[in-house]
Amino acid sequence: MEYDSNGIFAKILRGEIPTNSVYENENVLAFEDINPKAPVHILIIPKADVPTVNEFGPEHKEMIGDMILAAKEIAAEKGIAESGYRMVINTLDDGGQELYHVHLHLLGGRRMKWPPG
Ligand code: 5GP
Repeated sequence: MEYDSNGIFAKILRGEIPTNSVYENENVLAFEDINPKAPVHILIIPKADVPTVNEFGPEHKEMIGDMILAAKEIAAEKGIAESGYRMVINTLDDGGQELYHVHLHLLGGRRMKWPPG
């Protein structure tokens, strides 16, 4: 999968599209989903140009860890650490991926269904 540097998340990372960022460090940026599927719905994206999980490599290990640690911290800040939450990374068509810059969904504030549809 080729990385699309004209994609929305690439533009957000370059500061070309303003967004409500809730967390940032050297490896990741997190912001509110524009069309939330739960009372808390945050997207955590790596700063590297990686389109899908399939393109992750060993060089991304620290960044991948930071994505999950960021989600955990944001969950605590948003008050859902105790009630619970879900982390999702959709991958390609069957996974329901729409935007081809890897992103981790942090969802919470309501009871999630299992199995997902
Ligand atoms: P996917 O289906 O690729 O896993 O998720 C893409 C997510 O990006 C969706 O939840 C969608 O609502 C969100 N999204 C799409 N366009 C924008 C945007 O311009 N800004 C933000 N913050 N989120 C977006």
